[in-house]
Amino acid sequence: MRLCADIGGSFVDMGIVDASGDIRDRQRHPTPVGDWHALVTLFRDALERHGGIIGADTPVCISLAGVADPASGTITSSNTPSVHGRRFDDFGAALDRPVSIINDADAFALAEATLGAGRDHRRVFGIILGTGVGGGLVEDSTILVDAHGIGGEWGHGEILVDSPIAPGSVPVFECGCGRTGCLDTIGGARGMERLHAWLHDGAHATSVEITSRWIAGDAACRTTIEYYSRLLAGPIATFLNSFPATIVPVGGGLSNCEPLIELLDRRVRTGMLTRPVDQVVVRTELRDRAGLLGAALASTRSLLIEDVLPSQR
Ligand SMILES: [Zn+2]
Repeated sequence: MRLCADIGGSFVDMGIVDASGDIRDRQRHPTPVGDWHALVTLFRDALERHGGIIGADTPVCISLAGVADPASGTITSSNTPSVHGRRFDDFGAALDRPVSIINDADAFALAEATLGAGRDHRRVFGIILGTGVGGGLVEDSTILVDAHGIGGEWGHGEILVDSPIAPGSVPVFECGCGRTGCLDTIGGARGMERLHAWLHDGAHATSVEITSRWIAGDAACRTTIEYYSRLLAGPIATFLNSFPATIVPVGGGLSNCEPLIELLDRRVRTGMLTRPVDQVVVRTELRDRAGLLGAALASTRSLLIEDVLPSQR
């Protein structure tokens, strides 16, 4: 039994994960965005509630939006002030037990690679199309990151570059990472909305409205989705030509739109040198369980692989 949590920008998702991968006592709390002590209290309360079934030396497993840098033992690049810059040791000291911390997209990729859509694949590129864009690489059940915890971050890097001949012809926006023109600026739900406004004279529509109207045949939304899917599919295909993952599970809110995933898949396969016949870009199988299961797997992989995989395969 492990207390697992996914700390997002809006909510902290918590639950007790057992060796069979079941999640109990699932709770969702608003994220104490700027209040470290309130965040710690959420964990301490949960540990108190389950004190009888969670061992004192059992690590608390956390996935979060941000980079867990093993070299410095610090959380970096997080939009949540209560965790940004925190040392892993701060969590351990506050909770009086070991703590395992992992980036949320890496947790997603690890869970899908081990228990979900990628379980029969050696290399998995898990991507999140949520508020923004995230990604994680898994090979042989191991997350691939560099010494600072970076890997699979396809959402960042200056891909959209304005034309010197026709200024304003490319949607170049500032990214939270400090660069401009990152896929993160147009690839998630907010990005799709930003792209829609850019294409249609500032028109405001939510990502759910855009995808729904696209499916219903709306011409403006079709243009947005055409542009959106091409902007995303190219880099995904290029990535797969470089790192030979054979499956791309997609999580996050936009993965709920199955036709969007199918369109992305067709475009990605067209851009791949291997031209796969079978679907490569697929919807998450674990849905909203992936974050907590990935956090658990990052600390208890051997236990879960031994106990869960044989029965699931
Ligand atoms: Zn960026």
